[in-house]
Amino acid sequence: MKRSEFLKQLALISTGTLILPRFSYKTDSPFRELRNGVGTFSMRGGTIGWYAGGDSIAVVDSQYEDTASQFLNGITDYGDGTGLTLINSHHHGDHTSGNPIFRDAGYRIVAHEEVPRLQQQSVGDGANAVTAQETYSESLDIDLGHEQIRLRYHGRAHTSGDSVIRFNNANNIHMGDLVFNRLYPFIDIDGGASIAGWIELLETVANGADSDTIFIFGHGNPEFGVTGDYSDLLHMRDFLTKVLEHTQEGIDAGKSREEITEVHSFDEFPDFVSPSDFLSLPRNLNAAYRDLTENSD
Ligand SMILES: [Zn+2]
Repeated sequence: MKRSEFLKQLALISTGTLILPRFSYKTDSPFRELRNGVGTFSMRGGTIGWYAGGDSIAVVDSQYEDTASQFLNGITDYGDGTGLTLINSHHHGDHTSGNPIFRDAGYRIVAHEEVPRLQQQSVGDGANAVTAQETYSESLDIDLGHEQIRLRYHGRAHTSGDSVIRFNNANNIHMGDLVFNRLYPFIDIDGGASIAGWIELLETVANGADSDTIFIFGHGNPEFGVTGDYSDLLHMRDFLTKVLEHTQEGIDAGKSREEITEVHSFDEFPDFVSPSDFLSLPRNLNAAYRDLTENSD
């Protein structure tokens, strides 16, 4: 909790108008409960989403080995099921490097069929990636009794193996890295990204949600956070549309690649932050340039 929010809560308590909700006592906890047994875990790397209920624990993404261990130690406060599932939203290392810890803890690992190959490719020949034992191509339903999880593949977007993971009962959707919330995204052209496909996906998923749907994002600007609603998907869609249009207009006007890509912000998207050169607008524009000039489909 921010200090300003804490002081506000304290002020309300002193007048007796508010009882602190349970989570307020766990301000340092990386765990956050959303609703109906679904929550998030934020430490290092992509946001973990989790469901704990009945006889089951289902987890989306595994971060790194050390944080995966901390997750497994802490999740016992929320559930102790024996049906254990780990879903990899896509192959990137900040979402899959904790896989060995989950496998050793007895979790079965599930992902889109493209993910094991991309994961092995990204760790290189010298290492053996711990990859999904179970894969799917279009959609996969996981019935946990109290909760049904549906994985959907919508085609190339952030990579060529992104799942959108819906918790039907809780009405929560984990987007993996399909949303960087007000953060310049990583657009992995070598990993099969398609910006046009990504734009279409965000619109499709936003249209399939309602105003009560809570979305979980792989990454977020600290001010805007890693959860939100469908309007955040549409904002991301509009940003990617601007990236593509800016690049296409530059190409059509005969500008050089450098002229097109040396732009560090768009006036229409003042909230986007760049935590490093790796996640920056010039990088995004370079990816768009490659997407438009190298990908013919
Ligand atoms: Zn990613």
